[in-house]
Amino acid sequence: MENIISNEAVDKNKLENAKKIIVDLQNELNTCLKDGCGPFLAGIYDNDNNLIAKCTNSVVKENCSNNHAEMNTIKLAQEKLKTYDLSSYNLKIYITAEPCIMCLGAIMWSGIKEVYYSVPSNDVEKITGFDEGFKPNWLEEFKKRGITVYGNIETDLGKKVLLEYVKQGNIIYKPNR
Ligand SMILES: [Zn+2]
Repeated sequence: MENIISNEAVDKNKLENAKKIIVDLQNELNTCLKDGCGPFLAGIYDNDNNLIAKCTNSVVKENCSNNHAEMNTIKLAQEKLKTYDLSSYNLKIYITAEPCIMCLGAIMWSGIKEVYYSVPSNDVEKITGFDEGFKPNWLEEFKKRGITVYGNIETDLGKKVLLEYVKQGNIIYKPNR
C-alpha cells in the first residue's frame, strides 16, 4: 500500500506525474548498476517535464564523497543554465531515494522548488547500511522555505533496485554498522 508523505495537501496530478518519472529513473538505475554507479539516481525537470539534468551517484567511481546523485545533478543543471540560483526556473528534483543530510542542504541552496523521492531513508539504511544522517523536521523546514516535498513514491521498485546493488556485492561506503 502507498504511504505517501508530503508537506502540502496531496495534489493527485503532481503525484501521478512523479510516479511515472520515478519509475523511469528506477529502471534506468537498475540497468546502470553494473557499470559501477552508486545506487541512486536524480533528475531535474521543468514544469513541462523537460529534462534539465540527470546523474547517478558517483562517489566510488570518482573518489569523492560529495558526489551523491542530487549533488551531481544540481551541479550539472546550474552549469547548463549558467546560474547558481535555479529559483526563477521553478524546477523539480526527482530522486530514487530520500535525500541525505548533505543533499538536503544542497537542495535548499540550489533554488529547486519541488522534491519528489522514492525510498525513505530508514529503508535505505535497512537495505544497504548507508548512514543517511540526522534530518530533524526537514519537511517542515522545507515548507517554511517554500519547497514542496513528496516522499515514499513507488517504493517497492526502489527497494528492489537497492537490494540488487547489495546482492551484487557493491561497496557500502560510510556504513552505519
Ligand atoms: Zn546525499
